[in-house]
Amino acid sequence: MPERHASSEGASAQDADGRSVPTTCRAKGRNVQVLLPLPLPGALDYRVPVGTLPPEDGSFIRVPLGSRSLVGVVWDDRAEPEAGDLSFDRLKPIGEVLPLRPLDPALRRFVERVAAYTMAPPGAVLRMGMSVGEALQPPRPRRLCTIAPAGLTALDNGSAVLLTPRRRRVLEVLRDHPPLPIADAARLAGCGAGVVRSLIVSGLAQERLVPAEDLARPWPDWRMSEVQLSADQAAAAGRLIARVETAGFSVTLLDGVTGSGKTETYFAAIAAVLAAGRQVLVLLPEIALSAQWLQRFRDRFGVSPAQWHSDTVHSERRDTWRGVASGRVPLVVGARSALFLPFPELGLIVVDEEHDPSYKQEDGVCYQARDMAVLRASVAGIPIVLVSATPSLETVVNVARGRYQRVSLPRRYAEAVLPEVQLVDMRRERMDPGRFLSPPLVSALAETFAAGEQALLFLNRRGYAPLTLCRACGHRFECANCSAWLVEHRFTHRLLCHHCGHAEAVPPLCPECMTAGVLVPCGPGVERLLDEVSARFPAARAALMVSDVLTGPRAAAELARAMIERHIDVLIGTQVVAKGHHFPLLTLVGVVDADLGLIGGDLRAAERTYQLLHQVGGRAGRADRKGRVLIQTFMPEQPVMTALASGDRDRFLEAEATARRAAGLPPFGRLAAVIVSAADADAADFAARALARAAPQLPGVAVLGPAPAPLAILRGRHRRRFLVKAERRVNLQAVVRDWVSRVRLKGSVRLQIDIDPYSFL
Ligand code: ADP
Ligand code: ZN
Repeated sequence: MPERHASSEGASAQDADGRSVPTTCRAKGRNVQVLLPLPLPGALDYRVPVGTLPPEDGSFIRVPLGSRSLVGVVWDDRAEPEAGDLSFDRLKPIGEVLPLRPLDPALRRFVERVAAYTMAPPGAVLRMGMSVGEALQPPRPRRLCTIAPAGLTALDNGSAVLLTPRRRRVLEVLRDHPPLPIADAARLAGCGAGVVRSLIVSGLAQERLVPAEDLARPWPDWRMSEVQLSADQAAAAGRLIARVETAGFSVTLLDGVTGSGKTETYFAAIAAVLAAGRQVLVLLPEIALSAQWLQRFRDRFGVSPAQWHSDTVHSERRDTWRGVASGRVPLVVGARSALFLPFPELGLIVVDEEHDPSYKQEDGVCYQARDMAVLRASVAGIPIVLVSATPSLETVVNVARGRYQRVSLPRRYAEAVLPEVQLVDMRRERMDPGRFLSPPLVSALAETFAAGEQALLFLNRRGYAPLTLCRACGHRFECANCSAWLVEHRFTHRLLCHHCGHAEAVPPLCPECMTAGVLVPCGPGVERLLDEVSARFPAARAALMVSDVLTGPRAAAELARAMIERHIDVLIGTQVVAKGHHFPLLTLVGVVDADLGLIGGDLRAAERTYQLLHQVGGRAGRADRKGRVLIQTFMPEQPVMTALASGDRDRFLEAEATARRAAGLPPFGRLAAVIVSAADADAADFAARALARAAPQLPGVAVLGPAPAPLAILRGRHRRRFLVKAERRVNLQAVVRDWVSRVRLKGSVRLQIDIDPYSFL
């Protein structure tokens, strides 16, 4: 063991509080490791000044780094420091320990395991759980705004007060969030601060100075309204509650058809955990669009849950983080990053729509939040419930292997039955140029409107047209930064790159041949469908539901309400409409181009298409009127399409499993993507060749590539891809680590490693 330098500072046998300090400490001084929220390879050594009691493991502590002062976490990494950097005197001293509950060991182990699995620096993982610097400071009294009782009555239409849409939005924001500063409430509601102030003046909202201690109190008491579960639901809920009561790690798949009441069922398990005084984390994909989920939560529990996603305002993030860390916030619903919040008393994790591809984060630390949620549950020794009507193949295989248990809800709740699915063979339909709705779909729409019911048209393409072409010279509009076409957006009169966000105005002339009036849109986007629907059904009220039109949770909630209140006859949308919505009068779903997702080399293309179209179709006929789904496809004999038409999900999954097993693909084999990128093509090629020469040659491991990535240029960087394919028994991370460590990359070259890649762009 390397020698440690004895400290030369005057040794005192007592610390500031008069407690005696262990003699070893006094004689030799002592260092601690601090993990900083930065992409460094590991924790750094700091010196505990002689006479100071060493901070507890997990403490949040201020330390110097270069000229900066940063907050990190005392890490109990007991590995011996390397010889050479141990000159104790030269270590910088630790600073103040912040008055926060230390990060508990389970969370520290979780950070390490995520880092090891994803091959990301541990500090980069820690940063995801510490992203609110200010939250680390003690709270100060603040002026905050809440809804007044009169406001609640007005929202429930229980008073004569008439609300303008903006005032209603503000009141809803105040009802759904913890006390907020006026500016934040205004921002969330998408209006000026004046609207909030006027509500305060009229007594519908109130503002007061909230003392610091009160900010530390829990939100209102949780009212648990009882829901009468159906027999199926009660049996399923009973099994989930049994898992919660047994404690210990377990994974349960709640597998129920769309509309079976999976949410009500897992709410019962949540209620059990809350009653036991423990915390719950619910992950939802695209939480910003889950207004209906929040409403149901309020109906069941009487309050809004704390939320954690990219749209939450700063003050709310800070309060939520502190509330979670102190154990005072009992439940958080959030997007994937909520997984890294410092829950000290976590008792249950629920991952709703567990198959959803948006659980995979592709930049920064590349991780699959569903998989990491299972890891977190295992490290914490608690149950986790994965919820879906179309579970991922990974999860289904884990059930088959006996690692996960399955709880099923095979029927829709109450009278509702599953919709009838019909394929429209587009090879046989006669279509007019520039039209995308087939005759059967047009007549189905007409019937639906005539019956006073609603329809949903689904097309997974934003904008007006995916490609704009010059009729005179053939010029195509391409992004300046990416190898991708620009997509025309008519509402904003722009050509937009869906990969980097680059936007330009639609020019009056072709920039190549300078002819006027020759640019033609090719193919459909949702905006173009809206035109077609308006032309064919001038009386129908149509609305778009697309992520670039919905500016946040409020806009989504308003659109959902307009749908429920029958101000809309037909909703036209991309995949944001597929998720979670429950519209009782919606009886027809039309899928305009079902084949879109099957193009491209994604190994999960078939699985994803099945999941997405099944979910979209699941929006039809959820109440007492029967629904139907029309799917336009050029490949009606494709297994995905036949499975959708027959409703035989399990047979589709078996066929998919057989194909993946034969190809050695996940979950039967392992994959890692290694992407080299550089500012110029030569540097990218040079680095790719160096990596190729060093590629591992091991049994059970195959390295494919380098190949130009399908998006060979992305955000101005040239990209080359390798795919490492390994048998399941191979330690993939070790192989990749050893490989890339043998290659030195120069200059602008960057390397991105993605374990279990989902995107192959
Ligand atoms: P899933 O998540 O399985 O698609 P939901 O949980 O959204 O299904 O339930 C579908 C609809 O049925 C919702 O409107 C829900 O409120 C209603 N529902 C389900 N179970 C019950 C129940 N036990 N009592 C009352 N309503 C229920
Ligand atoms: Zn671009």
